[in-house]
Amino acid sequence: MKPLLELNHISLSYHTPEGETPVLSDISFSIQQGEFAAIVGPSGCGKSTILNLISGLLRPEEGTISIDGKPLEESSLNIGYMLQKDHLFEWRTIYSNVLLGLEIQHKLTESSQARVDGLLASYGLEQFKKSRPSQLSGGMRQRAALIRTLALEPALLLLDEPFSALDYQTRLNVADDIGQIIKKEGKTALLVTHDISEALSMADRVIILSRRPASIRSVVPVELDIANRTPMTSRNAPNFKYYFNLIWKELNSHEYSSAVSVS
Ligand code: ADP
Ligand code: MG
Repeated sequence: MKPLLELNHISLSYHTPEGETPVLSDISFSIQQGEFAAIVGPSGCGKSTILNLISGLLRPEEGTISIDGKPLEESSLNIGYMLQKDHLFEWRTIYSNVLLGLEIQHKLTESSQARVDGLLASYGLEQFKKSRPSQLSGGMRQRAALIRTLALEPALLLLDEPFSALDYQTRLNVADDIGQIIKKEGKTALLVTHDISEALSMADRVIILSRRPASIRSVVPVELDIANRTPMTSRNAPNFKYYFNLIWKELNSHEYSSAVSVS
């Protein structure tokens, strides 16, 4: 099957007045349609840089990226981006926040608006349409941010440590919530995180990066012994710890590897 996303031998350095910083070194991986993949690696290793390349904000110095078999520059497919901060505007209501992407892209039509109404209803935000972001909990805000992203019908969702601003308890619940919505909507997703448990609880496959300049240490397909897994129930799978240790060892197998979160 043709992968939805393919990175081939990507390398990149940042050039600053202080000199050259090699960040990515020969990164290759692909993601299948409908798959939920995660990238884990130490802070500062180049995870966000990879997402910035896939979203087209940056260009690789070497290598190619293709989406649905086409070079990234030629693809017309939408790529959604979810960040640590939800970037909801306080001066807009939740409804006008979730419609914002459609508005900007001149895609606000009766049918796209109806789709957003459906998402708000399905995911419990209908009664908050007229609320301001500050009236919602952190979890509800992330849900609104996800609906704003889904409104654009992205072929691929990029998630850059989207839960790391939340406290631990909330983070588990929000990851569970967001993970289930993404699965229900049948989206292909790529999550980056420094949190092994978070990656493992959400992903079908975990890509492990080395320290900067990041290269791929290994790719681990996750097969948890649990039926109808969700991010929350995944954590109770009998072999969750096995995978955790496997990834932990891989991340720490380098003499100079830095600490990663064990939460
Ligand atoms: P991660 O998301 O894994 O924490 P990043 O991709 O944000 O890492 O950054 C990787 C490295 O590149 C870091 O050392 C960071 O300081 C550096 N870096 C990131 N963006 C820039 C930039 N625009 N210019 C120069 N260096 C950068
Ligand atoms: Mg980052």
